[in-house]
Amino acid sequence: MNTLAQRCVTSGSAADNVLRERGQREVFCGLTGIVWLHRKIQDAFFLVVGSRTCAHLIQSAAGVMIFAEPRFATAIMEERDLAGLVDANDELDRIVAQLLARRPEIKLLFLVGSCPSEVIKLDLSRAALRLSQRFSPDVRVLNYSGSGIETTFTQGEDACLASLVPVLPQTASEAASSLLVVGALADVVEDQFRRHFSAMGLASVAFFPPRRAPELPAIGPNTRFLLAQPFLGDTARALEERGCRWIPAPFPLGGEGTTQWLAAAADEFGIERGRFDAVTRPLRERAERAIAPHRSRLAGKRIFFFPDSQLEIPLARFLAREVGMQLVEVGTPYLHRDHLAADLAMLPPGILLSEGQHVERQLDRCRAEKPDLVVCGLGLANPLEAEGIATKWSIELIFTPIQGYEQAGDLAELFARPLVRRTKLVA
Ligand code: SF4
Repeated sequence: MNTLAQRCVTSGSAADNVLRERGQREVFCGLTGIVWLHRKIQDAFFLVVGSRTCAHLIQSAAGVMIFAEPRFATAIMEERDLAGLVDANDELDRIVAQLLARRPEIKLLFLVGSCPSEVIKLDLSRAALRLSQRFSPDVRVLNYSGSGIETTFTQGEDACLASLVPVLPQTASEAASSLLVVGALADVVEDQFRRHFSAMGLASVAFFPPRRAPELPAIGPNTRFLLAQPFLGDTARALEERGCRWIPAPFPLGGEGTTQWLAAAADEFGIERGRFDAVTRPLRERAERAIAPHRSRLAGKRIFFFPDSQLEIPLARFLAREVGMQLVEVGTPYLHRDHLAADLAMLPPGILLSEGQHVERQLDRCRAEKPDLVVCGLGLANPLEAEGIATKWSIELIFTPIQGYEQAGDLAELFARPLVRRTKLVA
């Protein structure tokens, strides 16, 4: 461990000392979010306004899925100069008109910006307004940026949801308080949470993003919201600007995280403790039983997180406290201290937290520490595997349902699997 890192090892609260790094990064851009968002909002379409590189990224990130009618596409805008801007706007309008004529089921169209200079010159918010007026009321057109200059991997979801907040309907001022769960969750997880809230006696619960555009939830000063994902800083700010109030909580990963996340909502809405315990205790016990076999494999193993998905801190908390793993370094691309405060407070002392990335230095630290398992992006996984280090792709943790009680065992298994595979390879 180098001297700078030594000075930044956590003591007391985990967030007191964080190693901040700025340098070369190895992360996907925010366009990646389209891969899970288009599955979530079933009548939305994502039109990337970008280059051939963007088209390739989306195709390869979504490559495992074969659709007769995919709900994303790329309008290629390269090889144009400034003089071609009018043309570019006309071209975009033409592509959108063609798309909507062919796909009348589309109710929500996102124009997703990217980094090529030809695209940066285009004013996509004006284009979205123009197209929204033209196709109103059948289709709403919004825009956000998934550019690699402005967003990493999961920030695309944040940018997408933040673009939706201003068009959410307003609740009536006399409406009773309601709960909004914010962040894309797999439908199966959403259904489980809905059942838990209902069993606790919390009836007025909505999820954002919704599964269909016409189901956009109404919000207002009587809305309290729980974040289901740790990378939604801009969305949370936009909701607060509309008067909604955030309920601080750890993220719902593992039995403990899920219980505390649900408990934060239960406390906020005055749910009686006995009722809360009666609903959650059997679920938590089942989660513990599901984790146990993986715990025996993983306890004491040393894990190193490269920054990628922003899920690193809640995952590290789960792995340290419920699975018994030792955290060597927990890197995150961006640390939202408020939203992660509860998870940070539960991390064991003495770990190295890093924010941002200087990939070469971090690789040096990783090699020096020789961890049993490394969580990282696809670009780093192959070289590390070739060096004999077991890896887990962080992108898998975004595409797999991992939140909630029912998924706690699967979540632990995701970390056990690469170690089991390596043992088999070595044997
Ligand atoms: Fe690459 Fe930028 Fe397109 Fe992302 S948005 S694929 S970083 S060119």
